[in-house]
Amino acid sequence: MKTIKPYFVIEDFDGAKILKNIEKAARVCYKSESSENSAENFVKKIINSGHESVIEHEKITVLLICDRGVTHELVRHRIASYSQESTRYCNYSHDKFGGELTFIEPSFWEKESVSYKIWQKSCEQSEENYLKLLEEGATPQEARAILPNSLKTEIYVTMNLREWRHFFKLRTAPAAHPQMREITIPLLDELRKRLPVIFDNL
Ligand SMILES: Cc1cc2nc3c(=O)[nH]c(=O)nc-3n(C[C@H](O)[C@H](O)[C@H](O)COP(=O)(O)OP(=O)(O)OC[C@H]3O[C@@H](n4cnc5c(N)ncnc54)[C@H](O)[C@@H]3O)c2cc1C
Repeated sequence: MKTIKPYFVIEDFDGAKILKNIEKAARVCYKSESSENSAENFVKKIINSGHESVIEHEKITVLLICDRGVTHELVRHRIASYSQESTRYCNYSHDKFGGELTFIEPSFWEKESVSYKIWQKSCEQSEENYLKLLEEGATPQEARAILPNSLKTEIYVTMNLREWRHFFKLRTAPAAHPQMREITIPLLDELRKRLPVIFDNL
């Protein structure tokens, strides 16, 4: 059994191109002219005016490595596209997975705490049972019935910029799950650095 921390990878990102394309779309509405460096200020004005539909023309894709509890909540966001590691088809007893299961460490328990040890034992037990079920002839899609929310998963997520803004408003708020916030807060920080005009005013 392996345990890891969650992380993300922002895929194929070109902030200048994103802003240029949004400007192009928005200027169709106003029949105004762009110049070489006009995109950022123009997009800022558009967002401040509440004309957010124009930012739907551009998207960002992120690969998230997190637990299945988090992705269960993530995929409730409907204006998005997802491709997720399948527990129906992946057989974690195979060599490419090292013959073991990977779990995401809970962010809210210290490694020395009793709660963490209970969690760890429970994951070890589920790995042992999963592998035993496969030995007994179960298929991966059957054996997965005993796997916990903490199982590591990978999910490729594409949302348009308006949906990312909506998603961050809900999923970085104090009411969001701590393991969701463990990912969304650093992801939003990174996107703010790369594309401040879109993400700064959340
Ligand atoms: C703190 C928190 C606690 C939650 N607790 C629970 C819970 O206990 N149980 C539970 O089931 N869910 C829960 N949810 C999930 C929540 O109900 C939403 O399903 C989820 O956050 C997706 O967000 P969204 O509905 O805004 O829509 P998205 O799918 O992200 O869509 C974006 C926006 O598009 C519009 N839209 C999309 N689809 C429609 C539609 N069919 N009709 C009209 N407008 C639409 C809405 O304006 C929506 O806000 C929780 C979410 C949060 C953040």
